[in-house]
Amino acid sequence: MRLIFMGPPGAGKGTQAKIVTTDYGIIQISTGDILRESIRTGKELGLKAKQFMDAGKLVPDEVVIGIVRDRIREKDAADGYLLDGFPRTTQQATALKEMMKAEGQKLNAAVNLDVPEAELISRLLSRAQKEGRADDTEPVIKNRLKTYMDQTLPLIEYYRNEGILKEVNGNGSLEDITERIRTALRSTV
Ligand code: AMP
Repeated sequence: MRLIFMGPPGAGKGTQAKIVTTDYGIIQISTGDILRESIRTGKELGLKAKQFMDAGKLVPDEVVIGIVRDRIREKDAADGYLLDGFPRTTQQATALKEMMKAEGQKLNAAVNLDVPEAELISRLLSRAQKEGRADDTEPVIKNRLKTYMDQTLPLIEYYRNEGILKEVNGNGSLEDITERIRTALRSTV
């Protein structure tokens, strides 16, 4: 099973992604987590990415495309994976298609978690207090939402055209949302 999880920042992608990867016995590939880990460990990749992340902007396409290209070739990705937070631009989506084709793979589904904007801001601010993420301050949150609207939203149409879009209402309790995702994926082969 090969999946992507889309949705605005604060939609709960990461949390739901963890549950779904356990369901299917596949790995979660979160570009945000990989980038944060590179910053934490002082890697060159982290140095390149930090200024963009701190400003609520996207890290350049070639950087994240390179991360994913390497990661999906690793052994533990052979049985399937869930991409959490990638792709975020049309260029990333087309690069993903090409690299999967080169590996003889196809995407089974693209899940989009839909949450109203007002709800997102309050969720992100409360997460900021709990986790202390550097990019969870109010001005940066607003930038991240704008970046999402401008650059990532068009991917919904992209995957609708590919015929694999699963739209899931991301409002409600964690358990309700998990059930909706499971139901949406049940029809997936
Ligand atoms: P996330 O944890 O998915 O919200 O990602 C945190 C930040 O990492 C984003 O605001 C971007 O700056 C950067 N990032 C993560 N994934 C990508 C991606 N696919 N393309 C560009 N930037 C990304």
